[in-house]
Amino acid sequence: MDKLKPKVVLGVAAHPDDLDFGASGTMASFAKNGAAVHYLVITDGSKGSSDTKLSSAELIKIREKEQRNAVKAIGGKSVTFLGYPDGQLEITMALKKDIVKVIRTLKPDIVITMDPSMLYSAKRGFINHPDHRAAGQATLDSVFPLARDHMVFPELFADGYLPHKTPTVLLTNFDTNNFVVDITETFPDKIAALKAHVSQVGNIDEVKKWMAEIGELIGKPSGYKYAEGFVRIDLR
Ligand SMILES: [Zn+2]
Repeated sequence: MDKLKPKVVLGVAAHPDDLDFGASGTMASFAKNGAAVHYLVITDGSKGSSDTKLSSAELIKIREKEQRNAVKAIGGKSVTFLGYPDGQLEITMALKKDIVKVIRTLKPDIVITMDPSMLYSAKRGFINHPDHRAAGQATLDSVFPLARDHMVFPELFADGYLPHKTPTVLLTNFDTNNFVVDITETFPDKIAALKAHVSQVGNIDEVKKWMAEIGELIGKPSGYKYAEGFVRIDLR
């Protein structure tokens, strides 16, 4: 598969930190090669804490700040928060319209999101978070056909949000990939991005070790020290 040289990249995920775990090495690499890299975070992350003294409102503020710092760490250009409540994301037309608006505004060459077909992994012993699946599916629906067709959401078109056809989608999927990106050079940026999520990551040395193991596993067949893997779809 061809190497990607995007000018504009949009990552869309459910929670603050999702993109940094799955794709920040790749996003940092795109940014280093001159791309404008943008994040779109759908939920407010308001449930992601076991600290019983912390209120949801406080957590939202903390996580927003952490995500902004992470975007800075990978050389990203902007982050948009849609503020949907964490843990109860549903695939609605309202959500798709919000995503379409951002796609039509930024006109990305690549959209990176979470693979909604990942319901669970028996091998790894986990159920994929329903917010991840909803975010991924709403984003795929937005890329095709909703952002592309001007008659969808005519009110957006009337407001100047012109249709956009995204050529390439990269899906984060922990079990399978058909495309790997060498992140050896940007691995430290990925760790810096993850370190920014202070409320989430705990011991950064352990996270670094874990990310290194995954990165090595994905990179090995291609001869890269560290890599991130995706399911890549080039839309015809
Ligand atoms: Zn998440």
